[in-house]
Formats: sequence, structure tokens, C-alpha cells
Amino acid sequence: MIPIAIVAPFLTAYLTFVGLVLGSFINLVADRLPRGESIVRPRSHCVACDRELNAIDLLPVLGYWLRRGRCATCGCRIGVSAPLVEAVAGALMVAPIISFGLWPGAAAGLCLVAGWGLAVTSLAAHRYAASARARAR
Ligand SMILES: [Zn+2]
Repeated sequence: MIPIAIVAPFLTAYLTFVGLVLGSFINLVADRLPRGESIVRPRSHCVACDRELNAIDLLPVLGYWLRRGRCATCGCRIGVSAPLVEAVAGALMVAPIISFGLWPGAAAGLCLVAGWGLAVTSLAAHRYAASARARAR
């Protein structure tokens, strides 16, 4: 059996990546849910040119950095909030793992990421409702 001290760094890195991917999902939910759109279909795409995002585009934080914050096809700007939400989710996953150990930390991290998702989605819904009210005037 492999000692936990040897696999712990790899599991920590993996769980941090899971946190980053959850951050990416939070972005999708916060973007679509307030507008009443499905979080399943259509696949992730550029809102300006409609191109489906590929694996590089979908890499949390790194995809934004590699594309220099712009769509690879039409060049429209991608808001800095996208990688920020992903980075915070990754940090919220790894910080408790470092503080409390692998499994208690991972459980706490998942709870924190869920709370982060709720906060980001609530803020997005609030902003969408405010802009809808402004458009109605
Ligand atoms: Zn585009």
C-alpha cells in the first residue's frame, strides 16, 4: 500500500483542479440561470460569435491566460470575473486541505465552493434583475 504522505500532494493538486473546474461551472450557472437558460445545453460558447468553446478555452484560469482574455475566433473580450471566480473556487478548495488535512479539508472545501457558487449566482441574478428593471424603464 502506498503511504498517504506520498499520494497526498497529488490528491491535493487533483482536488484543487476539481475546485477550479467547479469555479468554471459556477461561471456557467451564474451566467445562464438568471436568464432562465439551461445549464446543460447548448454547450459552452462565445456569446459574441457563438463558437463552441474547445478544451483550451475551457481550462480554468489557464484558458483565459492562454487566450489573453479574448475569444480565439472573434477577439471579443472575456470578463476578468471568469478566471477570478475560478481562482477563488480553487483557493477555497485548497486552503482547508492545507489547514485541516486531506479529507476533512476536502469536505470543508466543497462546502466553501458551494457557498461561493451560491454567492456568485445570487449576485449575478441580482445584477440581471437590476439591468432588466433599467431596460423596462
Ligand atoms: Zn467569439
